Amino acid sequence: PSLTVGMSTCGQAAGGAKVMAALEEEIARRGLQVDISQTSCIGMCYAEPIVEVALPGKPRVFYGDVTPERVPTLVEKHVLQGEPVREWALIQLSGEATPYEGIPVMPGSTYYGRQVRVVTSRLGLTNPESLEEYIATGGYEALEKVLGQMTPEQVIEEIKISGLRGRGGAGFPTGLKWSFTRQAPGDKKYVVCNADEGDPGAFMDRSVLEGDPFSVIEGMTIAAYAIGADEGYIYCRAEYPLAIKRLKMAIAAAGEKGLLGRDILGTGFNFDLHIKAGAGAFVCGEETALLASIEGRQGMPRVRPPFPAQQGLWGKPTNINNVETYANVPFIIKNGGQWFASMGTEKSKGTKVFCLTGKIKKTGLIEVPMGITLREIIFDIAGGIQDDKQFKAVQIGGPSGGCLPEDKLDLPVDYESLTAAGAIMGSGGMVVMDENTCMVDVARFFLNFTQAESCGKCTPCREGTKRMLEILTRICEGEGRMEDLDTLETLARVVKNTALCGLGQTCPNPILSTLQYFRHEYEAHIKDKR
Ligand code: SF4
Repeated sequence: PSLTVGMSTCGQAAGGAKVMAALEEEIARRGLQVDISQTSCIGMCYAEPIVEVALPGKPRVFYGDVTPERVPTLVEKHVLQGEPVREWALIQLSGEATPYEGIPVMPGSTYYGRQVRVVTSRLGLTNPESLEEYIATGGYEALEKVLGQMTPEQVIEEIKISGLRGRGGAGFPTGLKWSFTRQAPGDKKYVVCNADEGDPGAFMDRSVLEGDPFSVIEGMTIAAYAIGADEGYIYCRAEYPLAIKRLKMAIAAAGEKGLLGRDILGTGFNFDLHIKAGAGAFVCGEETALLASIEGRQGMPRVRPPFPAQQGLWGKPTNINNVETYANVPFIIKNGGQWFASMGTEKSKGTKVFCLTGKIKKTGLIEVPMGITLREIIFDIAGGIQDDKQFKAVQIGGPSGGCLPEDKLDLPVDYESLTAAGAIMGSGGMVVMDENTCMVDVARFFLNFTQAESCGKCTPCREGTKRMLEILTRICEGEGRMEDLDTLETLARVVKNTALCGLGQTCPNPILSTLQYFRHEYEAHIKDKR
C-alpha cells in the first residue's frame, strides 16, 4: 500500500505537512509497511490537503480536506480493512493513472470530466522530485527522439505543425519564434524560460514547476537543440521557493543522468541550465526587462526592435518562452504536432491551463481544450458561484485583462475571441466575481497594482497610471464627477496606445472593459453622492 500527500504550496498552506506527520505517526504506531510519499497539486486546491490511498490491485482513491484527526479512521478503514471511506472521497481512479484524461469521477464530481490534461498530466499523480517517476511516465522520450532521429529544422517544423502559441499571454506562434532565433547569425545563443508569474490570482506556472519541473527542463533542452543554443536560464520569481527548490533538484538529477550539461545522451550536444531568482518586480515579466535583470542590470523594458531573437541576453540571439509553453513541447514531440493541433480551435490549438479563483465554489488549477466556453469552466467545472449567488463578471488575464459580464459567458475561450471582447488570454488567471462585487473597486484594485509596478521609464504609463488611479479613487470615495468618465476613458486609450511596454499597453484594460460593460456602476457611484 502507499499513501501520497499533496505537498505543493496549496497543500502545504492547507496543512499538508501536519497530515503527513500524522500519517507517519499512525503507520509507525501500528507497525505497518506502507510507503508514504509526496506529490504536487492535482488541481483541486479547494479540497487540500488531499491524500491518495493506493492498495495493490485496487483503484486509487483521493481524499479531500484531510485533517490529522481523520487519519486514524482512514488508516483503519481503508489501509487495513480495504474499504474506502466513501463520504470523504473526492475521486477514484481506475487502474494506472498517468495520463489521466477522462478519469472516472465519483458521483457528484464534474471537476475533471471536461478537462484534458497534457502539461498537468503528472500533477498530483507522480513525485515531482523523482526523475525515475518522470522517466517511467514517458519523460525524456521526446529528447531521445529529437537527438536520435530529428534535425533542428524538423523539430521546429513539428512545433509549427502543432500550432502551439506562447502561453505567457501574447500568443505568438512558438515554432515561428524558434525559427527566428535559429536563423539569427551568431555562434552563441540562449534559451530563457520566463517563470516570473506575477498576475494576482495566477499560479499556473508555479503549479507546473512544483509539479513537473522535468517537463519544463526537457522542453527547454529540446528548444536549445532546435535553435542551436548551449546555455539557458530559468527566470523564476523568488516568491516561489518551492518551485526553485524543485527546479534545482531536477537540474542536478538530470545532469547526473547525462540528460543535461555536457554531451547529452552521448550525442555531443551540450546544454547548461541556470536558475535566476527574480526580486519581485512585476515588470520583469516583460521579456527585455527580464533579460536586463538576468544580466544584473535594473529590470526595465527597452524599445524593440531589436527583438531578443536577434539581440537578447548579452546581445546574443535568445529564445524566450514561458513555463507552460516549454512544458507542452515534450508532449508535442512525443505525440506529434498533428495530435496537438487536433485539440482546440482553428487559430488556438491545444489546451490551456487556467487558475480559478474568486467567488466560485471550486478554486483550483484546470487544463481545458481551447474553445471551451466560460460558462462550462465557471459552472460545469468550478461548480458555479459560492453560496449560489448571481454571477457578475469574470476577470481574465490578470491586471492586463478585462472584466467580462454575464452575456459573454458563452464566449469560446481562445486568443481572438477574448481580445475581441475586451479581455485577453493572458497567462491564464481567472477571477470570478459575484453580485456583491463593485466593479469600480475591481478596476481600482488592478490599477493600483499596475501603478505601483510601473517602472516609470515612459511618460504615458508613469503619469497616466497615476492620474487614472486618482480619478478612480475619487469616484470610489464619492467625489467623482460625470465628466471624469470621459477623461478616464480618453486617458486609458492614450496610455494603451502610447506606452512603451506591455504593462502600460494593457493596464487600462480593466478600466476600459468595466466602463464598457458596467458603466452604470460608475454612474451610480457619482450620482449617489449627490
Ligand atoms: Fe515602464 Fe510602464 Fe513604460 Fe513599461 S509602459 S516601460 S512599465 S513606464
